[in-house]
Amino acid sequence: MWPFDKQKMPISDFTLTAECGHETKVRDEVTAHGVTITTTIPIKDGKTDYCHRCLETMSIHCAWCGRPIFVGDPVTLYVSTDDYAIPDYAVKHEDDAYVGCLRGDCAETGADRAGFWYPPGQVKLDLSPLEAAIEKSGLPLVKKEDVPEETANNCETFGDACKRIFKG
Ligand SMILES: [Zn+2]
Ligand SMILES: [Zn+2]
Repeated sequence: MWPFDKQKMPISDFTLTAECGHETKVRDEVTAHGVTITTTIPIKDGKTDYCHRCLETMSIHCAWCGRPIFVGDPVTLYVSTDDYAIPDYAVKHEDDAYVGCLRGDCAETGADRAGFWYPPGQVKLDLSPLEAAIEKSGLPLVKKEDVPEETANNCETFGDACKRIFKG
């Protein structure tokens, strides 16, 4: 699932029909606001939610630097100061916080990552340690080493996914 893996892989000709109704490649280019990146759509049980063209339309501008934020990108949620005029394209999250990018020259620090830009156009707040481990490895092949000890010893709290990993 999201966020995408952005490693370099060849764009293959294999296609499937996404839930949005469009035929799509698994890996393809996405262009928004003059910037092109290559993304992989997440496939679960042979299905995927959106094609690359639909994902393209969900990209937004960073509230602070104006550069594009694509689905799957990490984002910041900063609050505006009085002397900054929020541009029209800025996307408000809540409590006067606006969605911004995590580029080195825009975010104050990488530690300010608040979450990821998710379809159909919302901020998914940061993942818990277990979710992050699952996302990184893809279910159900999570290696125990990837999961923090506190999570491994806490299946009561983290539920079924935890038990799948640690109790076979
Ligand atoms: Zn589509
Ligand atoms: Zn920015």
